[in-house]
Amino acid sequence: MKFIKDYILEAENLTKIYNQGMSDETIALDHINLAIDEEDFVCIMGPSGSGKTTLINCLSTLDKPTSGKVFINGENVLAMTSRVISEYRYENLGYVFQSNNLIDSMNVYDNIAAPLILAKVDPNIIDQKVKEIAEKLNISHLLSHSTDHCSGGERQRISICRALITSPKLIVADEPTGNLDSKNSHELMSIFKQLNEEGKTLLIVTHDPMIASYSKRLVYVHDGKIQKILERKNKSQQDYFNEIVNINAGDYIKMFFKNN
Ligand code: ADP
Repeated sequence: MKFIKDYILEAENLTKIYNQGMSDETIALDHINLAIDEEDFVCIMGPSGSGKTTLINCLSTLDKPTSGKVFINGENVLAMTSRVISEYRYENLGYVFQSNNLIDSMNVYDNIAAPLILAKVDPNIIDQKVKEIAEKLNISHLLSHSTDHCSGGERQRISICRALITSPKLIVADEPTGNLDSKNSHELMSIFKQLNEEGKTLLIVTHDPMIASYSKRLVYVHDGKIQKILERKNKSQQDYFNEIVNINAGDYIKMFFKNN
């Protein structure tokens, strides 16, 4: 049997109810149990409104559940003060969003360095880290540029650099390829795959089966519940992709007959 401490992230009976007790009450998450191992690569999929963003936000401490618990490295997040949660975020979590949340009034270098500047890290260490990470993500030539002159793919690389700058174990991404074309999406997923091979744990929300086929595990959410978990194991990416497409297709067929 596994104990909680074996997992980097764990949700126990996670429930989120918006507008509780009101006429527009919505149960976004309904008693979700999920454990994520170190070096896992999990994609969360499901139809629009199924609870994916709420789940990732509750798991990554950006939102609070109505009931249930979240453990990061075995520590109950809900029992922590907001100061300790901020420290946890800084040390353990890197975020990548669809809209990449870059600050366009700052250049690429300062966007990447921002978390370390805020934490008052020695400028020489910041400089070394920014250059090292920019080189890894192939954007060294952009460091002095303004972010609003960068392409969508470059902006997501900058966003990944910023997420990596504090050396977190876990990278959380919500629809990171949402604004990218197919070529840039595949390039971004190859970067995520490489990061996972280097030891990072990844938790990514996507609606795209092709993107999900890069993962090791797929968590399929429907109406706030986990409907199915698929594991890639030794399957080819193509076979895994076909399995993922089949769960999606099953859902669309059910929705079609419910609405017609
Ligand atoms: P997904 O990411 O799968 O599209 P969400 O987690 O965004 O799903 O939403 C799950 C459900 O919760 C949806 O019915 C959505 O309308 C509702 N919801 C999400 N955020 C809020 C909010 N801030 N207030 C009220 N309802 C919300």
